[in-house]
Amino acid sequence: MGGEPNEARVVAEVPKGLLVAGQWVDASGGETFDVLDPSTGEVLCAVADATPEDGRRALDAAAGAQKEFAATAPRARADMLMAAFDLLHERIDDLALLMTLEMGKPLAEAKGEIAYAAEFFRHFAEEAVRIEGGYQTAPAGGSRFLITKQPVGPALLITPWNFPMAMGTRKIGPAIAAGCTSIIKPAELTPLSMLALGEILREAGVPDGVVNMLPTSRPGELTEPLLRSGVIRKLSFTGSTAVGRVLLAQSAEKVLRTSMELGGNAGFVVFEDADIDEAVAGAMAAKMRNTGEACTAANRIFVQRSVIDEFGDRLAKAMSELPVGRGVEEGVRVGPLIDETAREKVQSLVDDAVAGGARVLTGGTAPDGPGYFYPPTVLTDVPVSARMGSEEIFGPVAPLTPFDTEDEVVAAVNDTEYGLVNYVFTNDLRRGLRVAEALESGMVGLNQGVVSNPAAPFGGVKASGLGREGGRTGIEEFLETKYVGIAM
Ligand code: NAD
Repeated sequence: MGGEPNEARVVAEVPKGLLVAGQWVDASGGETFDVLDPSTGEVLCAVADATPEDGRRALDAAAGAQKEFAATAPRARADMLMAAFDLLHERIDDLALLMTLEMGKPLAEAKGEIAYAAEFFRHFAEEAVRIEGGYQTAPAGGSRFLITKQPVGPALLITPWNFPMAMGTRKIGPAIAAGCTSIIKPAELTPLSMLALGEILREAGVPDGVVNMLPTSRPGELTEPLLRSGVIRKLSFTGSTAVGRVLLAQSAEKVLRTSMELGGNAGFVVFEDADIDEAVAGAMAAKMRNTGEACTAANRIFVQRSVIDEFGDRLAKAMSELPVGRGVEEGVRVGPLIDETAREKVQSLVDDAVAGGARVLTGGTAPDGPGYFYPPTVLTDVPVSARMGSEEIFGPVAPLTPFDTEDEVVAAVNDTEYGLVNYVFTNDLRRGLRVAEALESGMVGLNQGVVSNPAAPFGGVKASGLGREGGRTGIEEFLETKYVGIAM
């Protein structure tokens, strides 16, 4: 695994075109854009740069395939997803290497993401054959209600760069299971994993036009006409809250169904009665998964005053021992950030916290290039007024803030416009459940630092989004309920 020849081969093998109506094609203007390796800053390859004209072609393909695809047997759709699940596992080493090259995460994490991504296909293959309806007598008697589910129609799926494969399968899986055709617009920083998936879906027997893929360097120009076309009936977006707000406004014109998985600002609470070893391990998972570039990353770590020094020392030790480097290298646990802008943002948030009185326990300064590396960093005594209290850090920086009482910490955690996930560490069951209920977030990790699971409903409240992905509810986001009133 690894090594130059394999790196060159996986990049050479991935399709570089647009997937429209089952064919790999060039962009209508013949333009391309470059994909970079964030660990070196060097160009990996160029891919086709979709234009609004390509958007119209993909729209025709998705619209043209919708009726027939909606009529396929649920079992046939499940079989396509299971075939794709098998291919993802068969090619996991190459796919992980490709993901590490374009996104930077260490190979072991990239492999973990491919397995996680594949699991959405298995989960939704199992859901495809369990779409239920109902038949009941009206309360006043006489007429009957027939309730059935139908695919919502062609969907636009927009994904971020931080989980280049899983954020796609989390949408494509339920879309296929429900019988929806789609156009996928992957993030311009990491289109290669999604393009590799496009080829896998073709091989898995997904009919032409059912899944179309349009990488582009000008996302707004491509997607706005699609949202306003009247053909797209559903938008599923994962990305920042700022872009989510723009897309929600654009979706209002045609009153589209929307699923919005947006930004987070997770609180991580350690009570003095917690198992400190478990809490440190949980914080490492919640902070360092994906080098901190996750919507679920612990962004604000609140530790009860009596244990903050012990917790801080242990966390700093564990963080400082993590090997940083190119994700393709053996033993590396922390890869580069996605680009220089991301790295500058992390540094400015650290500088702001330190200027406000925070102390650096480890890390805190970006190394010289090449690559966009940032060292695992622990700050303590971070004031709640620091910018990182309200902005996503999206990097390997753990800010600790002391607290005294349960009420105080619940209020502090909830004092944000976001509400995706929070984490609570305590050995007092009643307190754990009480605090979990009081926290304003779609998800809570109770004594665990990772909540993502394809079989669980993932999503946020407040400015973190609308709707849920995965779980039993994930497929509902791609289904409409139809009621037929029947006179008897
Ligand atoms: P982003 O919002 O910049 O981009 C996300 C996607 O939207 C990309 O494909 C991008 O090309 C596209 N986009 C950007 N501007 C657009 C426009 N005007 N019109 C249409 N599409 C546009 O976010 P990002 O930097 O790629 O990802 C990081 C963000 O995603 C973070 O805020 C993170 O919290 C969030 N995220 C959320 C979840 C979740 O499940 N809630 C999961 C992963 C990431």
